[in-house]
Amino acid sequence: MIVSLNGEYLDRTRATVSVSDRGFLFGDGVYEVTRARDGRLFEAARHLRRLARGLEALDIALPPGLDSATLLEISERLLHENGLEQGDATVYLQITRGAAEPRTHHFPPAGTPPTVFLSANRLIVPDDLHARGVTAITTPDLRWERCDLKTVQLLANVLAKQQAVAAGAFEAIFVRDGLAIEGASANLLAVIDGAIRTHPADHRILPGITREVVIELARELGLGVSEAPLPLRELSGARELFLTATTVDVMPVVQVDGRAVGDGRPGPVARDLHAGLRARLVRDTTRAPAL
Ligand code: PLP
Repeated sequence: MIVSLNGEYLDRTRATVSVSDRGFLFGDGVYEVTRARDGRLFEAARHLRRLARGLEALDIALPPGLDSATLLEISERLLHENGLEQGDATVYLQITRGAAEPRTHHFPPAGTPPTVFLSANRLIVPDDLHARGVTAITTPDLRWERCDLKTVQLLANVLAKQQAVAAGAFEAIFVRDGLAIEGASANLLAVIDGAIRTHPADHRILPGITREVVIELARELGLGVSEAPLPLRELSGARELFLTATTVDVMPVVQVDGRAVGDGRPGPVARDLHAGLRARLVRDTTRAPAL
């Protein structure tokens, strides 16, 4: 597999990062995972905007000559070089504050180049899970107060997801102050009283790109959408529950902590939104035919 590290294209096995890298030492960096289909990125502008916002919040400057257009070019070249010009794939992008010695908590000297890594990977869309639905557990949200930033510091998410897997579940739903916030690696949406409810895009959730698109699709379908806190106790009255994320699209949750959601099967709202998302993905990544 060919990856891109600091502007160089090289085989993954030869791509190495310094042990002084602040991503390695502190989790001091941000990342993005962008969906691709047939060699083209889906909703690239939104991912790049979220990336830019994260870099600004962390006060990490892109190296000279590396702008959004270049990141897009690198992404598409990686899809091409890795034979991912057909079908579903993802592009992973990570930017850390770079490598500097000695190890200090405060920022390294100005001008320390950030580490910029990108890779492209085949995505197997889990259609069997979409058909069957998945199970989830709930777990306390131990994360910090800036969950809106997509940082590589994912320890609370890692531990929560492992807890879910150990319990035989697909996802862990973070609970804070009695509210169902989001999943360990996905946003959470519920259908309650015929309308969609999901935690507002504040500092407690990652503002998922899939969530954003799905909310637009829901409104196009004439469904009510309320971005309002979702008390855990209301989950038991939800007709449907689903996760949204770049790698799972719209994933129905049919059981939480061993209790069935609705009738225990994937529901029509999740199914329609999944179909709508897939149609948007195809529409927005299809190249115009050559004249
Ligand atoms: N929430 C969390 C905590 C995530 O890690 C992710 C994706 O990895 C999402 C939500 C979904 O975001 P997106 O739809 O942009 O993939």
